[in-house]
Formats: sequence, structure tokens, C-alpha cells
Amino acid sequence: MSSIATNLQELQQKIAVAAEQAQRAPASVQLLAVSKTFGPSAVLEAVRAGQRAFGENYLQEALDKIDAVAALAPEVVLQWHFIGPIQSNKTRPIAERFDWVHSVDREKVARRLSEQRPAALAPLNICLQVNISGEASKSGLSPEELPQVAAQVARLPGLRLRGLMAIPEATDDVARQHAAFAAVRALYDRCRADGLALDTLSMGMSADMSAAIAEGATIVRIGSAIFGHRSIQPIRS
Ligand SMILES: *Cc1c(COP(=O)(O)O)cnc(C)c1O
Repeated sequence: MSSIATNLQELQQKIAVAAEQAQRAPASVQLLAVSKTFGPSAVLEAVRAGQRAFGENYLQEALDKIDAVAALAPEVVLQWHFIGPIQSNKTRPIAERFDWVHSVDREKVARRLSEQRPAALAPLNICLQVNISGEASKSGLSPEELPQVAAQVARLPGLRLRGLMAIPEATDDVARQHAAFAAVRALYDRCRADGLALDTLSMGMSADMSAAIAEGATIVRIGSAIFGHRSIQPIRS
């Protein structure tokens, strides 16, 4: 078995343990394989091990990879999630080629994605990114501006607002990990109380996955624990 297959199997086990400890069904947590900086052959190895959902951060790299993987494995249907920063003049290929976008943090970007989503495709699944730790360097809506933007995005016809995404500040302090994810969960609950039909909390990476699941994550975004250490820096698109 390839090490990618082993890593995926171990992660599914870890997800199941974390879910059961939180008295949640393991199937309520989806594993998103973050394949940024890794090539089509690594994605293909994961596909052979049963993985279907992949996350990408850099647009040009992602488009090339989507094409390459489709050529190598035309028979499998994959789900591609865009999780990186979005430039508002580059929304069209995202609207056309992806199934999900986790990193929407401006109404203008949401409006463009909605207008540019091809009518033949299902509405684009959207998570609004929230800057939960208040770091100036991080993208994301502030908790204060979230409710109004969420209400506006929920009305866009080309989109289906599914939930929230967050990347809390990196910390080894497990209590702080829990506190940050619980704060995202509280925002999510408030949006639902406001009447939005949300079902997705995209939070947790390789280093803080278990805390995220304990606080309600429904998608964990895992890169290095599947594909290994990222040594190369991607070309930014
Ligand atoms: C790279 C990345 C991940 C995966 O991080 P790992 O630490 O490799 O698991 C998850 N989410 C986002 C937004 C990322 O950019």
C-alpha cells in the first residue's frame, strides 16, 4: 500500500475516534485532501485509495491539476474545493471549474462567482471565511460583519451558501484550539438562528483536527498528514 493510502486510512481512523469522543457519527465529518504543491500523480494515488474530494489554494496550479487528473482518470468523478485567497478579477475559472469555494470573504467576490457560475451546473457551494483570531494578516470576514454579508450571499442565485470556514491562529495549546473553533461554531449557530440553512463548518487542519471535530467541524482540510511535508513553494496565481 502506498504511504498516501496508509495516511488516508490512519486519518479516517483518527476522524472516527475524534467523532465518537464527541458523540458524533464518523460519517458526519468529511475529509478534504489538500493537494496544493503536490502533482497529479499524488492526487491519483489518493483517488486509488478512495479519496474523492480535493482542496487547492493556487488557481493556475489547480486548473492544470484538474485537467491532468481528468485526463489520467476520466472515469472517476472528483469534487474540487477552492480554499485559497481569491482575487476578484480571477473568479470566472473558479466559478466554472470548482464544486466548492471555502474562502469567500467579500460580497463582491460572491456576486461575481454567482454571475459567472454556468447555468448548466448546480449552484456553487460556498463557505464564508471568518477571521476568528483577529489576526491582521489573515483574510476573512470579522465576526461583526459576517451576519450581513451572509444574508446577502444567501440570496445569490448561482450560489448555495453552505457554512463557514476558518483558519484560527496556529497554536499547540489545545485549550486555545478548542476556544477558537467553539467561537466559529457560535457564529455558525447564530447564522442558523437568523434563518440561514447552513450545514457546513470547514475547520481543522493536520495539527488541530481533533479539536475542530470536537467543536463541530463537518469538513476537515488536511494536507501534510496525507501527502507529506510541503517543500516546494507554489507559484502564486
Ligand atoms: C494548506 C492548507 C490546509 C492544509 O494544511 P495542513 O497543515 O497541510 O494540513 C488547510 N486549509 C487551508 C486553507 C490551507 O491553505
